[in-house]
Amino acid sequence: MIVVMKTGAKKDQIEKVKATIVEIGYKPHVIKGVLQSVIGVVGDDRGKVNHMERLSLLEGVERVVPISQPYKLASREVHEQTSRFKVNKSTVGSNKICVIAGPCSVENEEQLITIAKAVKKAGATMLRGGAFKPRTSPYSFQGLGEEGLKLLAKAKEATGLPIVTEIMDTDDIDLLEDYTDVLQIGARNSQNYSLLRRVGRSKKAVLLKRGMSTTINEFLMCAEYVLSEGNEKVMLCERGIRTFETATRNTFDLNAIPVLKEKTHLPVFADPSHGTGYWQYVTPMTLAAIAAGADGVAIEVHNNPEVAVSDGGQSLKPKKFADLMKKAAPVARAVGRKI
Ligand code: PEP
Ligand code: MN
Repeated sequence: MIVVMKTGAKKDQIEKVKATIVEIGYKPHVIKGVLQSVIGVVGDDRGKVNHMERLSLLEGVERVVPISQPYKLASREVHEQTSRFKVNKSTVGSNKICVIAGPCSVENEEQLITIAKAVKKAGATMLRGGAFKPRTSPYSFQGLGEEGLKLLAKAKEATGLPIVTEIMDTDDIDLLEDYTDVLQIGARNSQNYSLLRRVGRSKKAVLLKRGMSTTINEFLMCAEYVLSEGNEKVMLCERGIRTFETATRNTFDLNAIPVLKEKTHLPVFADPSHGTGYWQYVTPMTLAAIAAGADGVAIEVHNNPEVAVSDGGQSLKPKKFADLMKKAAPVARAVGRKI
């Protein structure tokens, strides 16, 4: 349930509600709105009496509303406006579409800096690059590890772009927090609940990818794990799902964008690179994602895709990425956004 406070409710009234929530065995999560604060009441409700009336009688409370969805903190019912937060100087969840671009894997300094400068020049807002790679085969390139993180730090210094990189293991969190601005949870780890809980206790923003066979409701429950630990900076990312179709690497679920936008206040991203698996489909599906209401996109870019150590076939060359950015501007405008 959620406790909606009256407009202008005092700090001590909010504190009293929070203390009562703890007393009845739940966790309070305060969400401050422009006029009103809302307090999410979350936790295991098995065997507990319904405390709605007790909470509704507290001073400063306007009403107590049950939440119909299994995800509570992720639901638009608790937070009507799309969540907006800063990642360094960039804002996520605003009218301006956020563009994450960069190579699938960090390979070497020359590769990364060249790509970072090119995507920055074309208008990207964040740099992506994997240092710990979740590869289908244990014999494929697994990423440069810490050396890759150091190169990402150099690229950040050269361009000012915030860094997005994947975390695969809870053990790596301290190391990753030193280098990155956004922790990416990949499709293969999207239901790794201990990892989700751990990034939920981080101060860093999280880019949570949808698992390849995760339903939209399950995906929102994954986000709920992160939110329930206190991290509110969660970006969701549709990256294609497994279907019977083999003409593309995955089936990019464009439907997920308006569905997620309706169900959750969390910013919704789209990754047409993994969603399609072929560079020639990336631009049209990026435009489609923007038209469908995405708050951001994540695109793989490589200066020499023919020799890329991973995902070369779905990577745009810098020139093609710059063309995409030009094509995206009028589409964004048509749906009342900027890019
Ligand atoms: C990636 O972003 O390079 C990646 C591995 O993505 P996903 O987890 O969506 O497959
Ligand atoms: Mn990739």
